[in-house]
Amino acid sequence: MALPLFAQALTAAQARIAAAARRAGRDPGAVELIAVSKTHPAARVEEALAAGHTSFGENRVQEAAGKFPALRSTHPGLRLHLIGPLQSNKTAEAVALFDVVHTLDRAKLAEALAKEMAKQRRRPSLFIQVNTGEEPQKAGVAPAACATLLRLAREELRLPVVGLMCIPPVAEPPAPHFALLAKLARDLDLPQLSMGMSGDFEAAVELGATQVRLGSALFGGRA
Ligand SMILES: *Cc1c(COP(=O)(O)O)cnc(C)c1O
Repeated sequence: MALPLFAQALTAAQARIAAAARRAGRDPGAVELIAVSKTHPAARVEEALAAGHTSFGENRVQEAAGKFPALRSTHPGLRLHLIGPLQSNKTAEAVALFDVVHTLDRAKLAEALAKEMAKQRRRPSLFIQVNTGEEPQKAGVAPAACATLLRLAREELRLPVVGLMCIPPVAEPPAPHFALLAKLARDLDLPQLSMGMSGDFEAAVELGATQVRLGSALFGGRA
């Protein structure tokens, strides 16, 4: 019998991640694959869970709040990543729902997260999102301001910052952006790098990604 579609796509993506890691002399096991389930119904997430996958990414707090609490009650090992912008007024809901937030990008949000984490006694891991292309419309802290935000978050607020995240400009080759993010993380002594999507994850893995965020490569196109 043929494998279900998600399982096939997952196997193919894992093989490509492993090959890219080996090309760079890296351990393929050091790369976490986050299945980005935004816009897809809970049934698709169930299909992924049935295939043994437990790590998911969503870009909207509201959408994730509608889909995941029920799935979590039946799959306690599920890990949920917020990969889209977080408004300060959604901080409480995000801290309650997510295990990892990839989009810390400003002081006000760091302060709101610290307050909520203390209140809820829950500490999701954090990535600082860096706007490596310095695009005016894009979220993320400017590369030159990253150290200052990290100092506030890690030293003053004692937040669990684990790494950096970026989304390269669509019209540019992604590799220089991945290389810049990797260098920043090295300089700041941060071990993890959330970078690489369906169109560019192999380049990201070759340049050190520890988290790749794959939507269409696993679930197909979005409406
Ligand atoms: C949607 C999204 C992804 C996944 O995109 P694909 O190209 O479908 O793999 C990854 N990261 C972020 C931040 C996203 O918003």
